[in-house]
Amino acid sequence: MIRKPKDNEYKLIKCGKLFDGIQEALLENMEILVQGEKIKAVGKDLQHPQDAEIIDLSDCTVTPGMIDAHTHLTFYEWSNRKYETVFNSPVYKSMAVLYNAERALRRGFTTLRHMGGNSDDGYGALDAKRSINEGYFAGSRLCVLPYVQCTVGSHGDSSQQAMKNPALAGYLCSTYPAMGSGVDFFRNSVREQVKLGADFVKLMSAGGFSTPNDSPDDEQMSDEEMQVIIETAHKLYKKCTAHVYAAPSMIKLANMGIDELQHCSLMTEESLELLEKKNIPIVPTFSPYEEIIHLDEAKLAQKDAAFQAKMRQYEARLRRGRELIVNSNLKLGYGSDLVTVYRSYHGAVEYSSMMNSGVPAFRILKAATSVNAELLEMDDIGSIREGKLADIAAWRRDLLHDPDALKECAFVMKGGVVFETEPFED
Ligand SMILES: [Zn+2]
Repeated sequence: MIRKPKDNEYKLIKCGKLFDGIQEALLENMEILVQGEKIKAVGKDLQHPQDAEIIDLSDCTVTPGMIDAHTHLTFYEWSNRKYETVFNSPVYKSMAVLYNAERALRRGFTTLRHMGGNSDDGYGALDAKRSINEGYFAGSRLCVLPYVQCTVGSHGDSSQQAMKNPALAGYLCSTYPAMGSGVDFFRNSVREQVKLGADFVKLMSAGGFSTPNDSPDDEQMSDEEMQVIIETAHKLYKKCTAHVYAAPSMIKLANMGIDELQHCSLMTEESLELLEKKNIPIVPTFSPYEEIIHLDEAKLAQKDAAFQAKMRQYEARLRRGRELIVNSNLKLGYGSDLVTVYRSYHGAVEYSSMMNSGVPAFRILKAATSVNAELLEMDDIGSIREGKLADIAAWRRDLLHDPDALKECAFVMKGGVVFETEPFED
C-alpha cells in the first residue's frame, strides 16, 4: 500500500534550476515546500518546520511531473502487440495498464492519458486508474477512455488483423462495445462510455498508418455520426477529441465543435488557418512518424510492412504537415502514441522528436506540463504553484538543448510521495 503523506509531514526540495510549468524560464536556487500531498510554497529561502525532510536536487533541473497525453496502455510488448490484442484476456490487459503506468511513473511521467484500447480489452484501464488512486499500486495518474467510437473495418477495428479468419474477426468485433453504425448507435455508445467512467470521448473518423486495410485519408464515419458523438459528449459535460490525419476531416470536425485533435499529421495551410482561428489544441504525436521524417531505416524496418509502405507513400505530406505544425501558433499538447518500436512508457521519445523537429524547448516543456493538464482537465497538476498536487520530477541533463534530456529521470514525486526512478532503456 502506498501511504498518502499527512498534512503534518513536510518536505523541502532544493532545486538547482526550476521550470514551474508556466514561465518560460529556468529559475535559479528555488525551493519547493511540500506539505502532505500538496505544494505549500515556492520561493527562495523558504520558512519551513524543523523536521521537514530536505531533498537536495541542487544538481538538477526540477519540473512538474511530465504528462503524456496520448498513450495506449493495454499491451506489454510492442513487437507482440497483434498477438496480445487477439489472444490475451481483458484481465491480462488490465495488468498491462498497471505495468506501463508504474514504468512511466518511474521515468518521470506522473500522469498518462489512455486513449482507448482494442476489442476484448474490457474496462480494466478504469480499474487500474481506481486502484492506483487508492494507493494499491505504484503508477502514474491515469485519465482514461476505455473505447474509441469507431466503425467496422476502420482504424479502430483491430479485427482487421484477423481478416483471414472471419469467425475470429466477428468474435473480436462482438467484444468492442463502441464499434457500430448510425446516429442512434453512437448516441447510446457515448452515453455508455461516460456512464461506465470514461474521462472523455474520442472518435476515430480517419484511417491510420498501422492498420493494413485503410488509409489516413479515409473518412470512415458519416457527418451525422461524427456530429452526434460530439453533441452527446458535450451534453454529458465531456470533452470530445478525434483521431484524424487529413485536412478535410480536420476542417469538418473543427466546424462541428470538436474540442481537441490528435495527430493532424497531414496538416495543410487551410486546415491550420481554421484550427488557429478556432483555437483548437492538437496533440501532434510526432514520434510514430519520426523514422521517416528523420530517416532511420533500422527502426523503420521494425514496423510491419503495411506501416512502412504507408510511411513512404505519405512521406512528403508528413514532412509538410510537420513543418506547418512546428511553425504554427497552435496550442500543442504532448503525446507519444508509441505503439511500435518503443514501449508505451517511453514518453521521453516525444521530447526528442519535437526538439529535433525544431519546436522550442519551453514550448515542449509547457506542452508536457501545464498545457496537457488543461487538455486533461486536471486543474491540480501541471505546474509548480502553491496549492497544486506535489507531482514533481527532476532531470540531470540540459532540458533546453539536449533532445534526450527526458531519457534520464533523476527524481520523481507523485502527490508528495517519492518513488525510485528507473533507467529509460529497461
Ligand atoms: Zn493513438
